[in-house]
Amino acid sequence: MSTILEVKDLKKYFKVPNGSLHAVDGVSFQIEQGKTLGVVGESGCGKSTLGRVILHLIDNTSGQILYNGEDITRVSRSQLSQLRKEMQIIFQDPFSSLNPRMTVYQTIAEPMQIAGGYSKTQIQQRVEEMMDTVGLAARFVNAYPHELDGGRRQRIGIARALVLNPKFIVCDEPVSALDVSIQAQVLNLMLDIQEQLGLTYIFITHDLSVVKYISNDIMVMYLGQMVEKAPSEDLFAAQLHPYTKALISAVPIPDIDHKQERILLKGELSSPINPKPGCRFAARCPYAKEVCAKEEPEVREIQPSHFVRCHFVEEIMQ
Ligand code: SF4
Repeated sequence: MSTILEVKDLKKYFKVPNGSLHAVDGVSFQIEQGKTLGVVGESGCGKSTLGRVILHLIDNTSGQILYNGEDITRVSRSQLSQLRKEMQIIFQDPFSSLNPRMTVYQTIAEPMQIAGGYSKTQIQQRVEEMMDTVGLAARFVNAYPHELDGGRRQRIGIARALVLNPKFIVCDEPVSALDVSIQAQVLNLMLDIQEQLGLTYIFITHDLSVVKYISNDIMVMYLGQMVEKAPSEDLFAAQLHPYTKALISAVPIPDIDHKQERILLKGELSSPINPKPGCRFAARCPYAKEVCAKEEPEVREIQPSHFVRCHFVEEIMQ
């Protein structure tokens, strides 16, 4: 299995009136081709910014984004437009991300028209093929987004993302705006398409039940930083970072014999603007000690493929 994406010490800071907002702050990870990395965390943790920076939709402040070994922050414009075909995004809300004045056909065809080099017949065939792949009936080809339900609208978003035959897709909360019954259909569709086409996903969500279902590995983010990353099964079996423990304790377990105590976090969320030195989670962490407010913990591999950012993880594990 080969590494399709490697991110090294990626940072994205935004200038704000009173300083610098550290939206993504020193994130590093790798993804193998054909796998899914789930990225989870509360709103404002930087996960959506991370997705956009990786696709180079917004510039990074520093760090490297190596796609098949090539740093996409340093490629020429023509190389980048070629890479854009391979790297796509599916947005959260299919209603606001689709142009209400464009039909299903126009929406799916548009990336091919922008990329250029395709005949009208090729575009027509590809749109039909994509509608079939995502399970959209041919009768909807001239429909507008408002004439379709949420599930069908998201299928258009997926078809549009797939039309240029990408290899890597950032899925930014792709099912959060959908009813629970439709979420499962769309997730299954995404898994089927991944298997058929060998796609690699970064799946961004705040919903841990969804991420468990779809991901090989899970990365937990807190205030712009990765605090834990592990294979999905390992993370759900044993969380090592105090923040992940609290997040997973809030996921309902469908088993009446298994009671899980919910960990309620006390203390204030620190600000990502001009962050203070030390661990970003210190103000809410039940295990915090003096050093936590002074020294930022490094990410360490505590068990094979299980990475944690915490000074005292070994103590917490006991
Ligand atoms: Fe808690 Fe300290 Fe670990 Fe941060 S470094 S998670 S404050 S114990």
